Amino acid sequence: MKVKSIKQAKKLAGKVVLLRVDFNVPLKKGKVAEDYKLFMNLPTIRLLTGAKAKVVIISHLGRPEGSKSKKALSLEPIAKRLGQLLRKPVLFCPTVIGPTAKTMIKKMEPGDILVLENLRFEAGEEKNSSRFARQLAKLANIYVNNAFAVSHRAHASVAAIKRYLPAYAGLLLEQELQNMEQIKHPRRPLVVIIGGAKMSTKVGVIKRLGKKADHILLGGAVANNFLAANKLPIGKSLADQASIKMAKKLLKKNVVLPVDIIVAKGKNLTNVKMRSVAKVGKTEIILDIGPETMKLYAKYIKTAQTLVWNGPMGKFENQTFRHGTMFTARAVASRSKGRAFGLVGGGETIQALRQSKMFDDVDWISTGGGAMLVYLSNGCMPGLKKIVR
Ligand code: ADP
Ligand code: MG
Repeated sequence: MKVKSIKQAKKLAGKVVLLRVDFNVPLKKGKVAEDYKLFMNLPTIRLLTGAKAKVVIISHLGRPEGSKSKKALSLEPIAKRLGQLLRKPVLFCPTVIGPTAKTMIKKMEPGDILVLENLRFEAGEEKNSSRFARQLAKLANIYVNNAFAVSHRAHASVAAIKRYLPAYAGLLLEQELQNMEQIKHPRRPLVVIIGGAKMSTKVGVIKRLGKKADHILLGGAVANNFLAANKLPIGKSLADQASIKMAKKLLKKNVVLPVDIIVAKGKNLTNVKMRSVAKVGKTEIILDIGPETMKLYAKYIKTAQTLVWNGPMGKFENQTFRHGTMFTARAVASRSKGRAFGLVGGGETIQALRQSKMFDDVDWISTGGGAMLVYLSNGCMPGLKKIVR
């Protein structure tokens, strides 16, 4: 793998660099609630300002289409937080393109930082519109992609834009790719742990990494589909027919399923009980893995030399159903940074890792959830073309 790194770019002084980042972070009461993605972009921003480039940062935030308040999806509070992290003024432009953006960029001094408004406020972004890409490109001299998490999407700011500007990988994108190599060419045994909710986003990785992995441990709602495929009762658990059908095809020898689980009933999730997987009642909902499953999974994790974890093992946002996920975080972290290479990724998975206080104890926390799964399943990454060979 060869990466065209921003470290190779010469004569950045005075140039306008369009830096595509993923600042799609959770906000709470108008403030950044989780700043890992911001933090991980600081080295690239510092490299550019240090080289006296004019840094114009672009990102999307949420899904403005169909959302009631555009204001709630403004990048302004994120620009403010970035300034605090950098301990430097960060300018904010209330538009993405147009005369306001042009004027503000014209006034920039070398080393200045400007954040443009939410890319998805422009319809051309998600349509990968050439026109919009050209309008963006006109604002700058060089393009840098640092948004691994968005690189699996054919959107204008990661795909079409590269037709109009010389393109490089930022330091974070480069690091993400280097760490993914450890999974593509793993030390064995490779143990992959997949949980979470949406089966459709996990199928590719279960299929591809499943072929390579020594063991693939399943949890979360994803596992429900596999239990059902094995003709086990799952009551009213989150699952669907299409996913169960897919699960049937993916049930290989190296797939390990929960042997016991935690169930509850009704809207309020009352009547919490521990059950063997064969004994789930008709009205019960599976919400976490049980203690026997944790013991079983620990055995596999303890032998691993390479570990990948994506997706919580249960509905961890609810204190009652967080144990399986906290166990997984601790088990992965305790092997990592030494006995095994441990890679963790995914929006909710990162939140869970933070909760477990194991954030500093794994080898790499990927800023990409969906993108990580696509990359590891050798899927198409339009954002990497012309940058990675
Ligand atoms: P990530 O963002 O880390 O990739 P996902 O988005 O795939 O993870 O899934 C995270 C969600 O899955 C969490 O919000 C969690 O509550 C939910 N979840 C996990 N297990 C279950 C379950 N058994 N039933 C319902 N929801 C679950
Ligand atoms: Mg998620």
